[in-house]
Amino acid sequence: MKITALSAVYPNYRNVPPSWRTHFWQIVVKVETDAGVSGYGYGGGGRAAVEVVNRHFAELMVGRELDSVDDIAAIWDHVYLESLPYGRKGVAVMALSGLDLALWDALGKAENKPVYDLLGGANKGQIRSYATGGDQPWYGELGFTATKFPHRWTDEADYDSAVERATVAREAMGGDGLVMIDTYMSWDSAVTTRMSELLKPFSIYWFEDVCTPDELDAQARLRPVAAPVLIAGGEHEFTHYGYREIAKAGALDLWQPDITWCGGITAGLRILDVARDAGIPVAPHRGGEVWGLHLIAASDCMDLAEVLPGMRDANRDDLWIGEPAAENGYIAPTDAPGFGVRLNEDLL
Ligand SMILES: [Mg+2]
Repeated sequence: MKITALSAVYPNYRNVPPSWRTHFWQIVVKVETDAGVSGYGYGGGGRAAVEVVNRHFAELMVGRELDSVDDIAAIWDHVYLESLPYGRKGVAVMALSGLDLALWDALGKAENKPVYDLLGGANKGQIRSYATGGDQPWYGELGFTATKFPHRWTDEADYDSAVERATVAREAMGGDGLVMIDTYMSWDSAVTTRMSELLKPFSIYWFEDVCTPDELDAQARLRPVAAPVLIAGGEHEFTHYGYREIAKAGALDLWQPDITWCGGITAGLRILDVARDAGIPVAPHRGGEVWGLHLIAASDCMDLAEVLPGMRDANRDDLWIGEPAAENGYIAPTDAPGFGVRLNEDLL
């Protein structure tokens, strides 16, 4: 089939993560074909990425063949190179992610296969999920045995707040559960070193994003300091080129590419190749959403998918209809064609 149109839109969200401001959350990318099949992808970069798709990528796509996984890889390489002068990382690759995922969705629908079958077939069955957010007792009630809470460092009092949060999380998950901490680049080497001591009794599984993504050497030095706690990160890195630098620096124990930001499933597969060579486990950021979930199901990603249940009684935007939900701490993609979801047009 041939691609006839490509477009992107920024949904009318009612609930956007506060750190992403108003106009920088996820975009919807749609690819149309002459076979009557349309594919939908989810990208990052907000309104800026919408402009990249509509004013640049669209003109590159019309008339391109889309009949195989190899065609998707060729399109990825073409768009990456065409956007390279202003791209390589950030908004342009977040936009490319949405395009890439829309291509996988369209090909799956055309072949009447779920994306995980395009990737060689599911190899995991039900995938263990971990709940990210701030309501650990509720996540425990929902049946999760793994959780991650956010912790932002501002001053000395936050040593105590980390211990308090870890106490609650460990109690909610039980002795055998997994507890992780996402510091969103707010700790540094000194704080991470002290936290490693203070949090020993809680057997934390990983510390995430303790430094900025540019501080690769600092994170490499923290790995033996924090061990056996893993130094995790990667949601702010892009493509296999970026991950090669992480590998070269030996910066992280566990990689977390966001499949809707890092360049889509095509980049995810290439990052997995780099990870395999480096012997590093991969657990995609927000991997419980269908875009990462199909990759986890069919690859050698860890058997661990991140879901964001939010807080009890909080409002959320259900942009994609048909997304599987975690039940009793486990989640799996459906066998519907493509990613198996429909766009909720009420949010456009
Ligand atoms: Mg994170």
